[in-house]
Parts: sequence; structure tokens; C-alpha cells
Amino acid sequence: MKQHKREYDWLFAVADANNGIPKKCACGQSIVVETGEQGRRYYVYKVFEDDGSHFRICCLQALEDEVNDLKKDVRDKVETRLKLQLKIQKISKEIEELKKLVKGSTND
Ligand SMILES: [Zn+2]
Repeated sequence: MKQHKREYDWLFAVADANNGIPKKCACGQSIVVETGEQGRRYYVYKVFEDDGSHFRICCLQALEDEVNDLKKDVRDKVETRLKLQLKIQKISKEIEELKKLVKGSTND
């Protein structure tokens, strides 16, 4: 049972890491760029075996995935920044109102 879980976790990690430009192969070894059929370039484990546990990823696809991930990251960060700016405006207003209240009470 534990063995199945480990295999599942491993496959999941491979699938998850198999998105964007790989820094290392799923097995932890270095990746090289290789030119394949029709001049297509691939990120590939230097001694690639097609056993499902090593990477051979089309460079163009990896770049597209990477750009899409970066675009999503930027969208998320812009959204977070806008939310924070609104919060700061709200808090600034509250501080001004509190200052007025404090001034009003010390003038009594
Ligand atoms: Zn590998």
C-alpha cells in the first residue's frame, strides 16, 4: 500500500514538474537541449530512456507553458496589489476619522 502511494506521489511529481522549462529531469539529473526530428528542439534527460520517468519536452511547448504560468502569476500579483491599495485607502480614511474624533474629544 505504501509502495503504491510512493509510486503515485512520484508520478504526480513528474507530471507536475513536467510543466514549463525544466531545471532538472524527474530523476534529478541534468537536462540538455537536443534537436530532434524536423529541427524541433527538446529539453531532454541526457541519457533519455522512454520509460515514463524521464523528461523529453518540446522546447516550444515548455516555453508556452512557462509564459502562461508567468502571465497567471502577474495577473494574481496585480489583483493582490489592487486589493491591498483599496485596503490602504480604507484604512487611511479610518485613521483620518479617528484623528478627527481624538481632536474633537481633546477640545472638550
Ligand atoms: Zn531522468
